Amino acid sequence: MSKESHYLEIDGYCPICEASAKFIAKGNWYRDTLFCQSCKNGSAPRERALAHVLHREIPSWREMAVHESSPMNRGISMKIRSECKNYIGSHFYPKKPFGSIVDGWRNENIESTTFEDESFDLILSLDVTEHVFNPEAMFKDIYRTLKPGGVYISTFPIRKYQVDAAIQLAKLNDNGSIEYLKSPPEYHGNPIDENGALVTWDYGYDIHSLIAYWTSFSVEINRFVNKHLGILGEYTEVIVCRKR
Ligand SMILES: [Zn+2]
Repeated sequence: MSKESHYLEIDGYCPICEASAKFIAKGNWYRDTLFCQSCKNGSAPRERALAHVLHREIPSWREMAVHESSPMNRGISMKIRSECKNYIGSHFYPKKPFGSIVDGWRNENIESTTFEDESFDLILSLDVTEHVFNPEAMFKDIYRTLKPGGVYISTFPIRKYQVDAAIQLAKLNDNGSIEYLKSPPEYHGNPIDENGALVTWDYGYDIHSLIAYWTSFSVEINRFVNKHLGILGEYTEVIVCRKR
């Protein structure tokens, strides 16, 4: 069946809407096509997977101090931003001062934020980790800025047949230039830059061990097929890192 003629419709339950919902896919790459028809601006399977894990792991998330890195203008990001009392959303504007507010967002480099130690109960990111140059620095900074008992919940693509835990695709040189280790370079959509976001790392099945080597996080990876929740397709993993 061609991508164009593929059509799937599911009556299920959306963990973002927290109500019955219809999921419709026009195209068989469900990661980018299976959208909730009720979520504000829609939601993709990985967002519903993250919402499902969030409700299960941290039912009181609305009361918590939350940092979300690079929120999207749809689905779970908009819900958390509107319902959470103590929420900071950050984006990366490299030419503006870090720690300042730019276009309504806190300006932060996720690899070395300006937040105090132990600032947050919960840190979230959706498909950010594959775009950072130094994931070790990122995970260490997230660990630093979480309170004891705090949790980092994220999604990013994990290649199930890749033996290496992490393969670098692009690196940042000391002079600020980017060295491309893969040709052609790959880009994903970026909510604040129409040129997209460069993919810097491919992560493999064993990434949980590497995160636990870099930090003292306990790491759990949740993998899904859940038609009722509209969680189908590739790369629906939700990675849960807990600080003891
Ligand atoms: Zn929904």
